[in-house]
Amino acid sequence: MTPAVEFRGVSVHFGRTRALDSLDLSVARGETLALLGPSGSGKSTALKALAGFVRPDAGRVFLDGEDVTDLPPHRRGLGVVVQSYALFPHMRVDANVAFGLKARRVPRAEVAARVAEVLDLVGMGAYARRFPRELSGGQQQRVALARALAIRPGVLLLDEPLSALDAALREDMIAELLRLRAELPDTTLVYVTHDQGEALALADRIAVMRDARLVEAGSCEQLYRRPATEFTASFLGAANLIPVDLVSHGTPATVRLGERVLTAEPTGALGPGPVALGVRPHRVGVGAPGADTLPALVRAVRWRGTGYRLDLELAGGATIRAEVSETFAVGAAVGVSIPDGCPLVEVGT
Ligand code: ADP
Repeated sequence: MTPAVEFRGVSVHFGRTRALDSLDLSVARGETLALLGPSGSGKSTALKALAGFVRPDAGRVFLDGEDVTDLPPHRRGLGVVVQSYALFPHMRVDANVAFGLKARRVPRAEVAARVAEVLDLVGMGAYARRFPRELSGGQQQRVALARALAIRPGVLLLDEPLSALDAALREDMIAELLRLRAELPDTTLVYVTHDQGEALALADRIAVMRDARLVEAGSCEQLYRRPATEFTASFLGAANLIPVDLVSHGTPATVRLGERVLTAEPTGALGPGPVALGVRPHRVGVGAPGADTLPALVRAVRWRGTGYRLDLELAGGATIRAEVSETFAVGAAVGVSIPDGCPLVEVGT
C-alpha cells in the first residue's frame, strides 16, 4: 500500500549546519509515528520538510504517493500543531478554529458546523466564545489541535505539543490524544518529541534520531525490548549498558561479566568491537552477597515513591542503576544478579 508519508533521501542544511542527513522513512495511513531524539537531532527539521516550511537541498517528500517537495505548505493539506499553541490572541476560539477553513473558502454554514464538531472532539465545545488568554495552557493546546483538525487533514503533524504543559496536564493530554486517535483511525500522526515516555505511550512506531540521522525505526516494543543500537538502548529505555566480554557468538550469545557467565540476545550484527548488555534498572536483582552474584557496593540511594533507586558500583568499576522495593545502606556490600536474555549491543552504535 502507498505510504501516507514518505521521505526519500531528504537532506536539509542551514548554512553549514547539517540539520537532516539523507532521511529515508515512511509512515502508513492511520499510523502514529514518533520522531524521537535529543534536542538538535533533526526531528523538527524533518517535520518542517514534510510540512513545506523548509526546502530540502536533496531528496523528495511524498504524501499519498504524490511528490509534494515543490508544493507550498498550504497546498499540502496537513494539520500542524506546535509547542507554543500559536493561537491568534485577538480572535475568539471559534474564529481561531475557523481560520484555516475560511482561508480555504469553505462555505460559511459548513464552517460553523465543522468548528462545532472539532471543538466537541477536543472537549472544548463550551469555550467557543472565549479569547485564548481566558484559557489554561492545556485548553489552548486543545484549541490548537481543533484548529489543525478542522481542515480534516489526512496527516497531522505535532511538534512537541505537550512540552509547554506541566506534568499532570501532559498526562491528561496523552489520554486525550489517544482518544482522538481512536476516533480518527484514518488520520496519520507524525509526532515529534524528545520524551521517551510520550513516544512509548502514543506511537505505533518510533523513529530514533541522532545528529541529523535516523538511527533506527521500529515498533515501540521492538525498540524497547530489542534495541539494535547502544544509543537506542540508553535513550529509549534509560537502560544500563554494562560492558561484557563476548564468550561465544550465536542467538543467544554467551557473555562474561566478572565471574558470571550469562546468555544474551544480540539485537544487531556484532562487529569486532566491544559489546554491552542493556539491562533495565528494574531487572537488576540486589541482595546479600552470594556465590551466584556479582559483588558490588551501594554508592547512592534515592527514594522514588514506588521504590528505591540504587547506584551500584560493580567490582570491575562499572556503575549501574537498580530499582528495587527494599532499601540498602549507602556503602553496603551487596550481591547483584543480572538476568539471562538481556539485549546485547555493540558499543558505539
Ligand atoms: P530537534 O527538533 O531534534 O531539536 P532541529 O531539527 O530543530 O532539532 O535542529 C537540527 C539542527 O539544525 C540543530 O543543530 C539546529 O541548531 C539546527 N537548526 C534548526 N533550525 C535552524 C535554522 N532555522 N537556522 C539554523 N540552524 C537551524
